[in-house]
Amino acid sequence: MQKISQDNEHWREKLTPEQYRVLREKDTELPFIGKYYNMHENGMYVCAACGNPLFASEHKYDSGTGWPSYDRPFSEDAVEYREDESYSTKRTEVICRRCDGHLGHVFDDGPKETTCKRFCINSTALNFRKQKK
Ligand SMILES: [Zn+2]
Repeated sequence: MQKISQDNEHWREKLTPEQYRVLREKDTELPFIGKYYNMHENGMYVCAACGNPLFASEHKYDSGTGWPSYDRPFSEDAVEYREDESYSTKRTEVICRRCDGHLGHVFDDGPKETTCKRFCINSTALNFRKQKK
């Protein structure tokens, strides 16, 4: 995948302040207020910064955490993982492979009947594209 490399100035112009804080400064939105945690429509969740398809609605599930949760990415090429040791806990950060935007974290307490993974993603980092009929 072709990387998009842009300076902060570019992203400040392209993104809303909320999107910038999450995608570029790794902020986490408050739970239960994001636009997608309770979304159940069929479609694709793409990166709010670069449009990279990240998560399919068929892999979304209700985790009860207040953030959109998925048991896997749309494809393993869509995302990258980084060890994140901020807040003195060890977590695995999930970033967009194309633009390096921060999306959220992945945990091992996902659905046991599928992957056991819980991709805990900020709504702010996503845009939803409804499936065309
Ligand atoms: Zn991206």
